[in-house]
Amino acid sequence: MTKNTSIASLGEFGLIDRLTENWPSFQPSTLKGIGDDAAVIAAGDQVLVVTTDLLLEGIHFNLMYTPLKYLGYKAVVVNLSDVYAMNALPKQITVSIGISSRFTLEMVEELYQGIRAACEKYQVDLAGGDTSSSLTGMVISITALGTAAPGEVTYRSGASPNDLLCVSGDLGGAYMGLQLLERENEVFKVNPQMKPKLEGFDYILQRQLKPEARYDIPGIFKNLDIRPTSMIDISDGLSSEILHLCKASGVGCRLHEDKIPYDEQTRDMALEMNINPLVAALNGGEDYELLFTIPIADFDKVKNDTDITVIGHMTRPEDGAMLVTGAGALIPLVAQGFNHLSK
Ligand code: ADP
Ligand code: MG
Repeated sequence: MTKNTSIASLGEFGLIDRLTENWPSFQPSTLKGIGDDAAVIAAGDQVLVVTTDLLLEGIHFNLMYTPLKYLGYKAVVVNLSDVYAMNALPKQITVSIGISSRFTLEMVEELYQGIRAACEKYQVDLAGGDTSSSLTGMVISITALGTAAPGEVTYRSGASPNDLLCVSGDLGGAYMGLQLLERENEVFKVNPQMKPKLEGFDYILQRQLKPEARYDIPGIFKNLDIRPTSMIDISDGLSSEILHLCKASGVGCRLHEDKIPYDEQTRDMALEMNINPLVAALNGGEDYELLFTIPIADFDKVKNDTDITVIGHMTRPEDGAMLVTGAGALIPLVAQGFNHLSK
């Protein structure tokens, strides 16, 4: 009997698990396959990390308000972020594009100006790719390659109970930037004469349209003399990423609501739109900050660092993955994230 299981019921991660479960490995050089921000491959006295991301028009980006130049930049950055999340340094990218007849040479050149700007900023080389026509819309797939010393690679799986949970930068900004762009786009669709009201929100708009990867974090770790025990980048929202760390490390966690760092513009826009900034941080995603754990003995090294905030700690697995609210209540963290497959 043929079954017709809906993919939406599995969700993105359920589908990946289902497709790849019991997958055999033939090469001893594959140190880490599926299940982290990047695969890790032995290559002489170094390891190679490899990560790939697929961006689809209408799912991941809206060209009504996304300049192609920024889109090209962001498409590179989101991949580099996964390389930094392994505590590795990105070196090369490949870029594959699908374009429909709606796009002109000038438009694709603009996309590539953004790709080039990111290559220059992060000092990575464009090493190849593939080009195809598409029936509708634009498709961009980028693969990033990076290197690290074997002992330096940081996986999702190294956290222990009592480790401190830390995050770089601030959260929720990209989501509030997206809400602002979506709102102004709706206004524009009704009345194209209306000028979009975007003044005063340059930071959250930049967080959404032209994010940066935390290339500075490996240097900060060196300066502070810390070695994260586990790490992941925040692409799908804090909840989902914390649950990845907990699952891969076999631990639970306590995330403290009142420790989550926000920028003032994120708070202001959340207030204006009647959205709890906590929701933007937990479920919004696309912040491309790094989430990592460190031994509790390293607290003094990070406590005064303005780039790093301690937002909680890991626990025994039986204690669950919990948000501790400002009022002291415990609420289980759930992975909502950007689950495109269930939309
Ligand atoms: P990230 O959010 O860091 O980009 P993902 O959540 O997309 O990572 O992917 C989780 C893991 O599953 C990664 O190791 C990725 O390489 C792997 N993966 C995702 N999709 C597929 C697929 N279709 N086939 C095989 N592996 C996949
Ligand atoms: Mg990632």
